[in-house]
Amino acid sequence: MDSLDAFTTDALDRLEAQALRRRLTSTERCGGAEVIRGGRRLISFSCNDYLGLAHDPRVKAAAIAAVERYGAGGAASRLVTGDYPLIEALEARLAAHKGKAAALVFGSGYLANIAIPPALTKAGDLILVDDLSHACILAGAKLSDARTLRFRHNDVRHLASLLEAERPAARRCLIVTERVFSMDGDRAPMTALASLAHDHDAWLMVDDAHGLGVIQGDASPALEMGTLSKSLGSYGGYLAASEPVIEYLKSRARSFVYTTALPPASAGAALAALDILEREPERRSRPLMLAQRFARAAGLPPAESSIVPLIVGEAERALKLSAELDADGFLVVAIRPPTVPPGRARLRFTFSAAHAEADVDRLAVSVARLLEPAG
Ligand SMILES: *Cc1c(COP(=O)(O)O)cnc(C)c1O
Repeated sequence: MDSLDAFTTDALDRLEAQALRRRLTSTERCGGAEVIRGGRRLISFSCNDYLGLAHDPRVKAAAIAAVERYGAGGAASRLVTGDYPLIEALEARLAAHKGKAAALVFGSGYLANIAIPPALTKAGDLILVDDLSHACILAGAKLSDARTLRFRHNDVRHLASLLEAERPAARRCLIVTERVFSMDGDRAPMTALASLAHDHDAWLMVDDAHGLGVIQGDASPALEMGTLSKSLGSYGGYLAASEPVIEYLKSRARSFVYTTALPPASAGAALAALDILEREPERRSRPLMLAQRFARAAGLPPAESSIVPLIVGEAERALKLSAELDADGFLVVAIRPPTVPPGRARLRFTFSAAHAEADVDRLAVSVARLLEPAG
């Protein structure tokens, strides 16, 4: 065996031994909350399609119409010939939805997050990120030469002490957090963070990947980043901000400048989904309502968003519980390190407007039974 295959085979064996090896499972989403896996029909509580829009006939029709008119691909970067009219319309709608002057669409949320921090900060600057931030936020901070420190999760006092100690020596300062934390479902104290940012002349950026359309924003930070691939049921990322910020990023965000425009189908679908989201408030209140109903019935702490974690500790236990729920007809994927910290493996339940109350109630019964002490 050559040294490359020897290295990877060995590393895979070690991951396997720790129950940390990842495997792909072919999954067919059928609309509603149903999926087909391994020939079996399951109700998924693991999708991020919170408003059930990925299969909405209006969203699919808009994607098809966009392909018919603008083609299957963007053909070049936005700055060359990829700036087709639909994508500009989408940016205007996103800006309006977020109450900002402008918006910029990226190829994905990941691409937005790896571009924004290094475009706005350099050596001599300071980035402060919540400790439980998504991997792509941490990757974005790493791509900047700014000094980066992590503050304890949702700990406003810790952030304040870091600002007091470190802010004076830094030229510029960026604070990054998530409105709804992707693996914990809890919310950032946005009002307190916004006031700290204001007091220390720091720029506050929020990642709204899991909040858009489901959780009302309670403060409006300077930088509102998010994704088109969760509640909007499409694909792509965005930043909503002031006119100068957006104009600057068009020249300086590397994963915007040096990548092909978002495909027309994705832009068309996201536009249609935004229409529905703004016109159907009852759809938007459903995911949180169902998450709260589930948490109550399963005896878990109250849900703050459409995400409910059940932290079980070891990766093996999370995999075993996931398999038991699968046997009951539910798809609830186990989340293991390094997506979550070591010893914090969990089941992560997500709720969607597409779920029926009866399915949520059956899930709660299954979960409560699994959690009963043996014997
Ligand atoms: C999913 C996610 C992203 C990445 O968005 P994509 O559009 O899927 O690349 C970024 N941040 C958070 C918090 C996420 O959960």
